Amino acid sequence: MIIVMQEGASRREIEDVEREIVEMGYKPHPIYGVERTVIGAIGDERGKALLQQLETSPGVERVIPILKPYKLAGRELKKEKTKIEVGPGVIFGGKMVPVIAGPCSVEGLDQICETADAVKKAGAKALRGGAYKPRTSPYSFQGLEEDGLKMLAEAKARTGLPIVTEIMKESVLDLIVQYTDVLQIGARNTQNFDLLKAVGQTNTPVLLKRGIATTIKEWLMSAEYVMSQGNMNVILCERGIRTFETATRNTLDLSVIPVLKHETHLPVVIDPSHGTGHWQYVEDMALAAVAAGADGLMIEVHPNPHEAWSDGGQSLTPATFEKLMKRMKLVAEAVGREI
Ligand code: PEP
Ligand code: MN
Repeated sequence: MIIVMQEGASRREIEDVEREIVEMGYKPHPIYGVERTVIGAIGDERGKALLQQLETSPGVERVIPILKPYKLAGRELKKEKTKIEVGPGVIFGGKMVPVIAGPCSVEGLDQICETADAVKKAGAKALRGGAYKPRTSPYSFQGLEEDGLKMLAEAKARTGLPIVTEIMKESVLDLIVQYTDVLQIGARNTQNFDLLKAVGQTNTPVLLKRGIATTIKEWLMSAEYVMSQGNMNVILCERGIRTFETATRNTLDLSVIPVLKHETHLPVVIDPSHGTGHWQYVEDMALAAVAAGADGLMIEVHPNPHEAWSDGGQSLTPATFEKLMKRMKLVAEAVGREI
């Protein structure tokens, strides 16, 4: 339920309502707007009638139900877009369209530093690199783990780029949080609800990828899992879904951009690398994503894609990435954004 406070309701009245919400067994989630404050009461749907009684509390204007199942992620409770700062001045959800770039996997200190230098020079605002890799085959390279995290930290120290890296299991959460600025939940874990709850208990922003076969509604419910634990900093990342098409690795669903803008206040990032699976198609889809209103991009870049330990076929070289960035700046300008 949403408790809409009267314009000019006092701090005391707001606090009293919050306390009443807690006493009724709900979690209050206040949003202090310019004109008025609204308080979300989040919890078991069965107690709706109880919450309705708050309409008679001092300072309350009205109590209205939240119709969508994603209470915190939805637009009903919060109309303004959420801005998420992942590093100094690197904000998702504002005018800027930050680009996260880097290799699929961290393979060594030289590889990650060389890539970091190159993507920074081309205008990327964050560095990606997997240290824990979700590979289809157990015989494929699984990631450098803690050593990889240390290398990411060195690349950050050298370039100042904030880090985005994937977490696959809760047992290494405390470790990864020490090294990363954004926790990536990969497509294979979009509905790993225990993992979502665990990252929801941190303050680190979460990049939540869309699952290989999750609907937008299911994806938003996954965001809700994270937010229900207190971490409101969720960035959604479309990376393609599985369809009957085989010419591309996945089908990059750019229609999520307008749909999500309608449904949620959370920023939306597009990953055309996993979305297409072929480096030749990445640039066009990246440009299309910016034109359609994406709040950020995630692009795989490797100094030598032929020798990459994972996802070489979809990785750009530093040179092709630089070319893409130049064109993308023009598209961003045309739609009133900046890269
Ligand atoms: C990745 O970002 O390298 C990755 C494994 O992505 P996804 O979870 O989208 O497959
Ligand atoms: Mn990859």
